[in-house]
Amino acid sequence: MYCKHLNLNVEVDVLTTGALADIVSGILESLLFQRHQIPLVYKTYRYYVEKWSDEENELSDEKVTSTAQFLRRQKENATKTNSSIRAMKELVRNAFNNKFIKSLRFLFGSTAYTPKEAYTIHIPTEAISSNHSHEQHRIAIGKLNQTLLSFLTHPDLSTIFSSNLNPTNIYLELEIAKQTVDLKTMSNAKVDMIAKEFYALPASCKDVQIHLLHKGNASLTSLHCCKDLQVYKDFMDLHLEDNVTVDADSDSNKCKNILYKTTEWWEADIYIRGFKEQGSKCLNMWS
Ligand SMILES: [Zn+2]
Repeated sequence: MYCKHLNLNVEVDVLTTGALADIVSGILESLLFQRHQIPLVYKTYRYYVEKWSDEENELSDEKVTSTAQFLRRQKENATKTNSSIRAMKELVRNAFNNKFIKSLRFLFGSTAYTPKEAYTIHIPTEAISSNHSHEQHRIAIGKLNQTLLSFLTHPDLSTIFSSNLNPTNIYLELEIAKQTVDLKTMSNAKVDMIAKEFYALPASCKDVQIHLLHKGNASLTSLHCCKDLQVYKDFMDLHLEDNVTVDADSDSNKCKNILYKTTEWWEADIYIRGFKEQGSKCLNMWS
């Protein structure tokens, strides 16, 4: 069985769930292109697809030839793929905002039970800071690209990345701390995940295990940026000193360890269908 474990460094001063959502989305985008599920890098692909939808409104029905119809169908399929990518990225962001995610995996295969390739991302839960806001601690685009590049060029993955994979479906499954999953109290009441039993990957599935490692320069307890904003609102709390913050942090770490002990698996109710351009090369749809 093909199984690879690799570490990926995440360089950001404070690790927030928002930064993690950015990284996971970035890994998904990279994989879609790398594993031939979209024909262009994601941002270029999205640019064209969204440009078409603007043009669509100006299109007249008079000059509909069979070639034009063929191209239109292709563009519809490409657009569907793009919409599902957006929806999955949105689901990842919401899940990180509302739930305690321990790990998640992207499965490439015709069904979620018969994946050919699986990419499991392990979240460094103990490094997540809940006292800082994502807006103030966004991961720099250069650092994010560095993380993604080290993933795409990782020597242990050269075998899998040099093999071909035909367009297939991409499923998302999430391992979430049990206590916090209460679908009834979810803010938007929309149920976007289905509970499922955890199952081992089939023996023929290529199994890639990605361990995210937080590499921050500043020590969490010495950073008061976001917490200070709240504290200063209440003048009574101005006397808060370092040791108080340290205690609060170690308490929250204790809670976290208990929290992540029992988890359950959920499957996203959407999946991505890989898109492949059909037909003659002289019909250029990317223009
Ligand atoms: Zn902060």
